[in-house]
Amino acid sequence: MKTIAWLKDLSKDSIAVAGGKGANLAEMYNAKLPIPPAFIITAQAYKRLIEETKIKDKILGKLKDLNVDDTDLLQKTAKEIQGIILGVKVPEQIKEDVLDAYDILCLEGKRKAAAQEVLKPEEEIFTAVRSSATAEDLPEASFAGQQATFLNIKGHDDLMNAVRGCWASLYTARAIYYRTKNNFPHEKVLIAVVVQKMVNSDKSGVMFSVNPATNNPDEIVIEGAFGLGEAVVSGAINPDLYIVDKKNKKIKKVEIKEQKIKYVKDPETGKTIHAKLTPSEEKLQVLNDKEILELARLARNIEKHYGKPQDMEWAVEGPKVYIVQARAVTTFKKAKKVEEAEEEKGEVLVKGETASPGAASGPVKIVLKMEDLDKIKKGDVMVTTMTTPDMVPAMQRAAAIVTDEGGLTCHAAIVSREMGIPCIVGTGNATKILKEGQEVTVHATHGNVYAGKREEAEAAAPEIKAAAAPQKIITATKIKVIMDLPDFAEKAAATGADGVGLVRLEIMIANGGIHPAEYIRQKKTDDYIKLLEDGIGKIAAAFKGKPVWVRTSDMRTDEYRNLKGGDKEPKETDPMIGWHAIRRQLDEPEILKAEFQAIKNLHDKGLKNVGVMIPFLIRTRELRKAKEIMREVGLEPCEEIMFGAMIETPASCWIINDLIKEGISFISFGTNDLTQLTLGIDRNNERIAKLFDEMHHAVLGEMEMVIKACKKAGVETSICGQAGSRSEMAKFLVKLGIDSISANPDAVPEIREVVARTEKALMLEAEREELEEKK
Ligand code: PEP
Ligand code: MG
Repeated sequence: MKTIAWLKDLSKDSIAVAGGKGANLAEMYNAKLPIPPAFIITAQAYKRLIEETKIKDKILGKLKDLNVDDTDLLQKTAKEIQGIILGVKVPEQIKEDVLDAYDILCLEGKRKAAAQEVLKPEEEIFTAVRSSATAEDLPEASFAGQQATFLNIKGHDDLMNAVRGCWASLYTARAIYYRTKNNFPHEKVLIAVVVQKMVNSDKSGVMFSVNPATNNPDEIVIEGAFGLGEAVVSGAINPDLYIVDKKNKKIKKVEIKEQKIKYVKDPETGKTIHAKLTPSEEKLQVLNDKEILELARLARNIEKHYGKPQDMEWAVEGPKVYIVQARAVTTFKKAKKVEEAEEEKGEVLVKGETASPGAASGPVKIVLKMEDLDKIKKGDVMVTTMTTPDMVPAMQRAAAIVTDEGGLTCHAAIVSREMGIPCIVGTGNATKILKEGQEVTVHATHGNVYAGKREEAEAAAPEIKAAAAPQKIITATKIKVIMDLPDFAEKAAATGADGVGLVRLEIMIANGGIHPAEYIRQKKTDDYIKLLEDGIGKIAAAFKGKPVWVRTSDMRTDEYRNLKGGDKEPKETDPMIGWHAIRRQLDEPEILKAEFQAIKNLHDKGLKNVGVMIPFLIRTRELRKAKEIMREVGLEPCEEIMFGAMIETPASCWIINDLIKEGISFISFGTNDLTQLTLGIDRNNERIAKLFDEMHHAVLGEMEMVIKACKKAGVETSICGQAGSRSEMAKFLVKLGIDSISANPDAVPEIREVVARTEKALMLEAEREELEEKK
């Protein structure tokens, strides 16, 4: 059994020798892709190491009957095993083979003239040394970052240390835990090590063989910046953007972005440092046409080789173009048909914002008053001034929805996403322009309504819905969903989400047809409890064993007038900041108590995964009173049930330490309200929707302050506002160390991917720093 394998002798089927990462690299190499040169220290070399040095039995002995649920013991055992491997004397033959291979790599494939000859220091190159476990096809065992990677390794001693580090990382506490829980025998996993030349890139970036922003499969999108790739991957700088037409192979678009810095490698230490660009460099185009077209060619080849759209990382060093990584694009939605339809000349009747993607055709039904809702039959296009939650039952029958007003965070817009019904909001005039009975096509993905029926549009819709498939990426930050409709619980659970970060009760209530205050007035509180118990129960069962956080009801007085008893709701000048959420609940505590009772009943049935959170808090005494009411139904907040505070008013941010002192299990950001209140922008007013941005520094500053306070106090942090479905927000929050992020079910795969990427970038940064400290 050989210690070393070269990529030319391996393929994607070589996992048993080279591990998952090594086999994939070999596959790319043999597909003639320009990947940086590398060799593999085989899994068999590791096997020989543990057998010849007799540490195998020692290791397995420690793992036998280990109770991995005993965290302290698990950590201790993992440390001991790693200590054994790090301290082992590597058999001479293995060491010699590894160092020989390194020398050959340094000499670009040439052998040293004589075996005893040593490399000159200037001939030594920097390498990346990465673990590549043979059980990588087992998703959890391959948890990215679970096994070690060492960057910028140069010279024999550092290399051997890094290789030992990779071997030892087969026994991190996390790896042991996952293998045990997945019944994967420890003696069956081996580990290979990839040693690859580090490209000292002059330019680098990412590219996609399809356009990820528009889903256009005929466009190749390239992003690039000067210097090392981490700058683009981690989002630290704004890269140039190039789009190439896949069919005629011409450059379609060049957007030059001003860049102030680049990441470069310090030639002495190998450490990544930031270098300022000169004023003339700042405005330069990063890639020339030749490089753009060469990358586009590679993108086409890679997509062809794997038979799937690819997401790639590339680097250019001198005249050489390298592909550093390629993987399938997981969030690509096959919306080709929508695109094609879009390109056909068609009359656009109205335009608006995409609240829920997809496309559908049908006859227009205009809804101006609640009675009009009965007109909506299955397959109709519902056109209304503004969707409200009490329209949900009718919305479920519609093929598509178009509104004059409303923003992306109005409840019903969110619900249409959950149901997978194409929806355009904020058109301004759809109810005036579109005519009753008129046949139209709603291309929600592009925010357009066309005259006439289009077959292709309907074909596009189901494919878009199918995008929410479960994925095998495991992230340290938990990815949860937002749920309103119990009937969709199984579908939401199928995303593989780690729980439900927000259950809104309002839609469940609307489906029941009676206003909560009316149940109390009619002395039918038990009916209300039953309604909630059934609805929440369905969600809790679909997510059994995972946390499900229910928000106590938050009904604005203008939104539910259509429900029985809704006409008794007071008229307010501004219901958005009026009598709703906890402030109303404390005036009418019977409603709150009934909601707590429903949750208590579920706990009694064994569904203890249900937690609760309180919306729109502005004072600690509101939290205290809510707790008192919960105790009345026989549940001790924070002890017997997870009890959280929604942070969705600026006041709640400023009093976060008091809320923590009062006692909470977690906080969850309601960024829809937090943004509305911080920026002073009515979230339902489409006229100013362009000013509504959760990424405003003021909102981010408040969130940072809250997360820091919570981390200090050991309180769990989460987000359940619509912004949790935005990549840039997810990135921001992962960097701050948020514990979980909730997204709409359809956004879960994309957010999971963004989170994984961000975590990886952070991990690499930390590793690099650690390595520097050791130097
Ligand atoms: C929020 O405000 O962000 C939130 C999650 O609550 P809602 O959208 O229901 O007001
Ligand atoms: Mg809110």
